[in-house]
Amino acid sequence: MTYETSAVVAEGLRKSYGGTPALDGFDLTVPAGTVCGLLGPNGAGKTTAVRILATLLRFDAGHARVAGYDVARHPDRVRALIGLTGQYAAVDEILSGRQNLILFGRLRHLPARVARRRADELLDQFGLADAADRSAGAYSGGMRRRLDLAASLITTPRVLFLDEPTTGLDPRSRNGLWEAVRSLVADGTTVLLTTQYLEEADQLADRISVVDAGRVVAEGTSAELKARIGEDRIELVVRHAAQLPAAAGVVERITGGPVSVDVEIRQLSAPVVDRIGALADVMRALQEHGVAVEDVVLRGPTLDEAFLRLTGHRSAGTREEVAV
Ligand code: ATP
Repeated sequence: MTYETSAVVAEGLRKSYGGTPALDGFDLTVPAGTVCGLLGPNGAGKTTAVRILATLLRFDAGHARVAGYDVARHPDRVRALIGLTGQYAAVDEILSGRQNLILFGRLRHLPARVARRRADELLDQFGLADAADRSAGAYSGGMRRRLDLAASLITTPRVLFLDEPTTGLDPRSRNGLWEAVRSLVADGTTVLLTTQYLEEADQLADRISVVDAGRVVAEGTSAELKARIGEDRIELVVRHAAQLPAAAGVVERITGGPVSVDVEIRQLSAPVVDRIGALADVMRALQEHGVAVEDVVLRGPTLDEAFLRLTGHRSAGTREEVAV
C-alpha cells in the first residue's frame, strides 16, 4: 500500500517515558476513507499513538505520516487536516456551548455565519440544543464530552482521531456519536478510533488493530480476528440440575470436550468443530438419555475471548496486569 491511499501510516514508532516504553515498535496503516479501531486495555499505548499521530507528542524513533504529510516534518499541515477529540476537553468553561463551538469554527477559519450554522447543527445532533446558551462550566461530564466531540467535527476533517469517544456517554449520546462518525466516513473522512469497548470496535471499525504493550499484536476485521483465534461452542441449559452429569457425559462423548459446567445456571458448554452436525448429534443423544433441554445455542467467539487469546489477558485489564 502506498502513502497516497493510506490516510495514516506509522512505522516502527517508539516512545518511552523515563525509560519505560509506551510504544515499542508500533506499526499501523489505515486506508483512506475507512474506520480503524485501536483496541486495547488501559496502558496499552493507544493514547500515546494517537497523540503522536495528531502532532501533540514527540516520539523517539520511527516514522509517521497523516493525510500524506510527515508528522515530524510538517506538523502544521497535518494539524490543518485533522480533528481530534480526547480524554482532555479543550472547552472554555466560561463560554456557553454555542459560543465554544462558534469559536472552534472561527479558529478553523469558517466565516461567522457558517460557524454559527454548523454550531447549531452540532448542538442539535448531540442533544445540547436546550443547554446551548448555558456556560460550559455548568455542563455535566457527559454534556462536556458531547461538546468536545462536537468541537472536533466543526469542520470536516480529513482524518479524525477519536480517543475513547464514548467513555461515560449514555446509550443515546453514544448512538448519536456513532451515527455522526458513520456519516463523516460516508463523506470520505478517515477515522482512527481508540476504544476499550469491543462492541464499539465491532460496530464502527472496518478493521481492528489490537494493541498490547506498545505494539499491534493482531490486525483484521472483527470477523477475521474472531475466526483466527476462536472456536465455536455449543452451550445448553438442562431443565433439572440432577441431569447435569449425564448430560455432560453425552456432550463430552460427542464433542470430544472439554466440557465446562456451570451448576448454578444448569449450563454446559463445549467446543465444536462440525457445528450443525454436533448440534444434531448432541440433541438426539440427550433425548435418548431422557435429558430435558431448556435452551441450546451455537455461538462463535466474542471479541473479548479473542482479545484474551491474543494478549493473554482480558480487555478490561489494569495497568498493573499490562506492566508484568
Ligand atoms: P488508556 O486506555 O488508559 O488511555 P492507553 O492504551 O491509551 O491507555 P497510554 O495512555 O498511551 O495507554 O499509556 C501507555 C503507557 O505509557 C502506560 O504505561 C502509561 O502509564 C505510560 N504513560 C502515558 N503517558 C505518560 C506520561 N505522560 N508520563 C509517564 N508515563 C506515561
